[in-house]
Amino acid sequence: MLSAADQFSPKPFVEPPWAAAFGCLAQMPVSHQGGSAAHSRAVEVRQKEIRADHGYYADHWLNRQTILQRVKSQMPALILMYHDLSEDPERVPAGHRPYVLATSTFHRQINSIATSGLPTLTVAQWCSAPRPPRALLLTFDDGHVSNHEVALPILCERQLRATFFITVGRIGTGETMNWTQLRALHAAGMEIGSHTLTHRPPSTLDDDELRYELRESRRILEDGLGAPVASLSSPTGFFNPRMRNIAREVGYRTLCFGQIGLAADDGDPFSLNRVAVKHAMCEDQFEALLRFDRGAIHRLRLPQLVRDLARKTLGPEVYLRVRRILVQKGSGR
Ligand SMILES: [Zn+2]
Repeated sequence: MLSAADQFSPKPFVEPPWAAAFGCLAQMPVSHQGGSAAHSRAVEVRQKEIRADHGYYADHWLNRQTILQRVKSQMPALILMYHDLSEDPERVPAGHRPYVLATSTFHRQINSIATSGLPTLTVAQWCSAPRPPRALLLTFDDGHVSNHEVALPILCERQLRATFFITVGRIGTGETMNWTQLRALHAAGMEIGSHTLTHRPPSTLDDDELRYELRESRRILEDGLGAPVASLSSPTGFFNPRMRNIAREVGYRTLCFGQIGLAADDGDPFSLNRVAVKHAMCEDQFEALLRFDRGAIHRLRLPQLVRDLARKTLGPEVYLRVRRILVQKGSGR
C-alpha cells in the first residue's frame, strides 16, 4: 500500500524571474571559478590560451566572467544544513540527537523562509550562475527517510528548492531513503548530491580510499537517477583540503563542509561553509540567521572553534575517540 508521502504529487515548480540568467555560466569549466592563488594562476594561463585560440569574442566573454566572479564574491549565501526531521530524537544514537529537528519546528522555519523573500536555490544552481544577493540554500545530509516524508511536501508547497546529500552505501537500508524516494525528490526539482559512500571521516582515509568514496558514490547516484551529480558534502564538519582537491579532480563542481559561516565569501565553490540547524537552536537565533546577522553566526561558530582546536591538538583519531566517550557519558550510557 502507498504511504501518504508516496501518494503526494508535487506542484510544478515555477522558476523565479532572475533564474533566466542561469545557464550562461553553467557550462563554464570548474577551472574558471574562484579558488586558491595557484588555482587563479592556472585560470589566467587557461584564459590566455582561450583568448589566443578564439580572439575577440572569447576575450569579451572572459572579461564578462571576471566581472561576474568579482560580483559573486561579494554576495555570500547562507547554507542551512538539516538532517533527520522527527518529534522523537531519543530513537537515534546519542551523538546524532542534537541534529534531529522537530517536525513542527521545521515547518515553522520553512514558513519563515518562504515569507522572508530570500531567493532559495540548490547548491549547484548558486555555484554556476550569477548569484542573487543574500541567497538562501537549504541542504539535507545523510538521506534520512523524513527528508522525503516531511521535507518534500512542504518544500514543494512553498515553492522552495533544496539539495539532498545522500550516503550512497546506505540507500534503502534502515531509515535511509530508497531509490523510489530519491527519484521523487529529483523529479520535484530538488538537487541530489553525494555524501560519500560510507560516511567515514575523510581524515581517516588515505587518498585512494577517499578518491574511491567520491568517485563511486557519484557514479552510483548518476546511474540510479539518470542525471549528472555536481555537488558533494563532507561527512564531518571540518574543512579538509585533500577532500577539496580530490572532489575537483573527480569531477564535482561544489563541495560543502560543516564549517560554520556564510558561504563562499572567497568565491571558492569547493569550501562552502554551512550552518547546522540543530535541535537546540531557538527561534530568535533562526530569525537572526535569516537576517544574515554576522554576530549571531559568530556566536554559533565559537563552540566549533573550540572543537577544531581540540581536534588539531589531539589529532583527528584521538579527538573522535574522546568525543565518543564524552557523548556516551552525557547520555548516561
Ligand atoms: Zn552526515
